[in-house]
Parts: sequence; C-alpha cells; structure tokens
Amino acid sequence: MDLHVLKFGGTSMNDHKTWKKVLEIIKKYEYPIVVVSATAKTTRQLIEAGKLAADNKLEKALVLGESIKLRHLGILHNFLRENPHPKRALIEESCEKKLDEKIGLLHKFLTYTHKVGELTPAMKDAIASIGEQISSYLLAQCGLATDQLTQFVEAKKIIKTDKNYGNAHPNLALINQKIGSLETILDGGFTPVIGGFYGEAPDGTTTTLGFEGSDYSASLIGGALHAKSIEIWTDVSGVYTSDPRFIKDAKPIPELSYFDATEMAYFGSKVLHPSTLKPAQERNIPVLVKNMFAPDDLGTKIIRESKQTQKALAVSFKEDMALLTISAYETVMGYSFLTRVFKVLDEHRIAVDAVNTTEASVTIALSDSEKLNEITKAFIEIGTVEVQKNTGLISIIGCRISDADQLTAQIFECIGDTNLEMISFTKEKRILNMVVDEKLMVETANQIHKKLFD
Ligand code: ASP
Ligand code: MG
Repeated sequence: MDLHVLKFGGTSMNDHKTWKKVLEIIKKYEYPIVVVSATAKTTRQLIEAGKLAADNKLEKALVLGESIKLRHLGILHNFLRENPHPKRALIEESCEKKLDEKIGLLHKFLTYTHKVGELTPAMKDAIASIGEQISSYLLAQCGLATDQLTQFVEAKKIIKTDKNYGNAHPNLALINQKIGSLETILDGGFTPVIGGFYGEAPDGTTTTLGFEGSDYSASLIGGALHAKSIEIWTDVSGVYTSDPRFIKDAKPIPELSYFDATEMAYFGSKVLHPSTLKPAQERNIPVLVKNMFAPDDLGTKIIRESKQTQKALAVSFKEDMALLTISAYETVMGYSFLTRVFKVLDEHRIAVDAVNTTEASVTIALSDSEKLNEITKAFIEIGTVEVQKNTGLISIIGCRISDADQLTAQIFECIGDTNLEMISFTKEKRILNMVVDEKLMVETANQIHKKLFD
C-alpha cells in the first residue's frame, strides 16, 4: 500500500473553513496519515500563559487558557453547523469533554508553575504541546462529521524521544517499533490523525521537537513507514527563490535536492524545519511542499538528486547584521590567533553567518544582538576590534560551481554603487555571502534576483 504522510501547519488549521479544506485534501489519498500543528497562534499563547504564571500573573494566564478553549469551541461549533451530521451531538460531546480535560490539565500546569515561580523546561513542553493535543483530536472528530474514517492517534504512543526538553531527539529504533500501530489503523480502513511537534521521554513526560517541530514529526513518521511521500501542506506554493513579500518576482522552485533544501532551511526560507529532511533523505522519500489554498500549484519537490539548470537556486537576505573585524596585535600569531577568535565565539555560543580570514585578521558577520558588546570585550583581549552595524547579509544559495565566474561577474554588476563590505564563497556549501549597507540590502537583493532568475 502506498502511504502518504500529509502535514498541515498552523495556518492550515486556522478555522473551520480551513479544517474543511484539510479534510478535502486528505480525501484524495487512498492511504493518508495526517500530522497537524496546533491552530494558528495557539502554541505562542500557551507559552505566554506559562510565562505569565511563572511571573506571578496566574489570573491572566488562566484567562488566556480559557480564551484558547473558547476559540476551539468556536471552530468546532462552526464546523458542525456547516457540516450537519446525524452523529453531531455525539461528536460535539466527545470534543467538549476532551477540551475540558486538556484545558483542565493546562490550568493545573499553570497553577503549579505559579506555585514554584518558574516555568521549568519539562512544564514548558507539557504546556506547549496542548495545542497539538487538542487540534489533532478535534480534527479527527470533525472528519467523522464529513463521513471520513479519521481516527485520532496519541502522538506520545509513537514519537519516542530522549529527555532533552524543548529540542528533544527522536529515538528512531523505538519509533520504528511503535509505528506498526498506524499500519493496523490503515489496514482497518481508517486515516490516523496525529498531533505533530511533541512526543514522549522514557519516563513518560511530554517533550517537544523544537520550534516548528510538526514538520519533523511528519518526516519521522514518513521515514518509519517507508512512505511514498511526505507532504508539507502550507500557505505558500513551495520553497521560493526569494522572500515573495519583498521580491515580487520570486517564484517557487520546482525541484530541490535534500542537500540544497537543508541549506535553505538554515539560511533563508522559513518553510521547513531544518531537521525535517534527514529521515526522508535516509529512506529516499520525496518531500513535497504544497499550498493548501492552491492545491493544483506544483509546489516544490525535494529529492535525492535534482537536475539544476539555473546558475543559483535562491537569494535570501537578513537585516540587522553586524560586521566585526578583529586584527591581531602581533602579526606573528598565525593560526593561534584564529583559534582564539573561534574560541570566543564558541564560549559565547555565537552563531556566525559568514567569515573571512587573513593571516592576521578575521571579519565575521553575525546578527546584531545583546551579545555583541559582550564578545567585543572578549575580542579586545586578542586584537583591535572594529564594529560596523546596520549592515545586511545577502546569501546566494546553491551556486552552480561550473558557472561561478559568470555568476560573480553578474552579481558584481548588480552591486553598482552599493558598498560591498564583505564577500565570501564556500565551495562545498555553494553559498556566496555578501554584506552590504542595510538600507540598500533589499534593492540589491532584488537586482541580483532579477539577474539570476529573469
Ligand atoms: N505548533 C508548533 C509551533 O508553532 C509546531 C509547529 O507548528 O510545527 O512551533
Ligand atoms: Mg511550519
């Protein structure tokens, strides 16, 4: 049997109308497995409630919990009104019972958090996962109201992880053992509906897989099931050549390799959770990114080897960057100087976006944050430090090496009178990074995008 894992994100789970769309998409597949996010905004609000409780604002936290419940009740009632069904009363009753139970649990967690005065990592995960616990149950019940054989499956029974709260690592061997229960459900003609994002530690506590973790749940399940495809249904038509909000000619990329898509997840496109592709890649399962509001659009297909015909795949950009240049006090220090520079970055847990080195100086591009002062002080121990703020980073991802000369020539043409503060190229990663004046960043990125993709 050809299994397809379909994941629907927060915007797809927004209201009763989008729930209906989700169920209509599922209907087109013979053996779908459905993974869902929490409804839009819910995860954020749950975490906010946890923080309020820890901050001695229990009343406010409980009110927020109550509003989450009301919003879900609203979606449920609207759905059942627009999709009348003889079993309506039964469905309504079971959903309301579940909501009461989960919001009751939330209130218990919030009260506990208030009492101990801190939101512990374990509590944070227990609270944050409630959104998916609710959305998966309610959607599965609403499926019954449209005569679809959807069945809620508790994610904790399948997604087994370690105890690394907030960013738990899956236990693949255990997941492979537990996955059979989904096959049994499918054999019985039912469609499993599972909450993404969360799982269970060996001691039974709830863990989460990190921000946007539902994609990861979907690919873990798809990998374990040897699925035919893993489909990420979202609100845009795939992974784009650039951010369409700023670059109006940005287009979806029809096909990407796992490698390039992973780079893009790190560097620009926020469409995918960066770990998502690993389980798919290991079993060579195609990952599709599809638009649920335009289901006929092709979207992006991510596979092992993609024939790249363009000179580059995408142009991404990021503002609020700072450029630090550290020059050694003595030029004879050689690589011990470099070692010391990287040690500072490591000790302060700073992720840098681009680096340029000469024997006696290092220039690094990094996000401008509170940590900047802190590390500048540390660098003064090693050398003179020059800080340049208000810069922007433009990354050209997936550069085709054979065209590198042509590519750089074209890019330089676009720079015109923009000051180029730094440029670096990584051959293995096929990324060309350049740092420019922040004010000219979008315009420059636009020029480069035109040159490369028109
Ligand atoms: N609801 C979670 C989040 O907002 C997980 C997800 O949607 O992927 O991060
Ligand atoms: Mg998402």
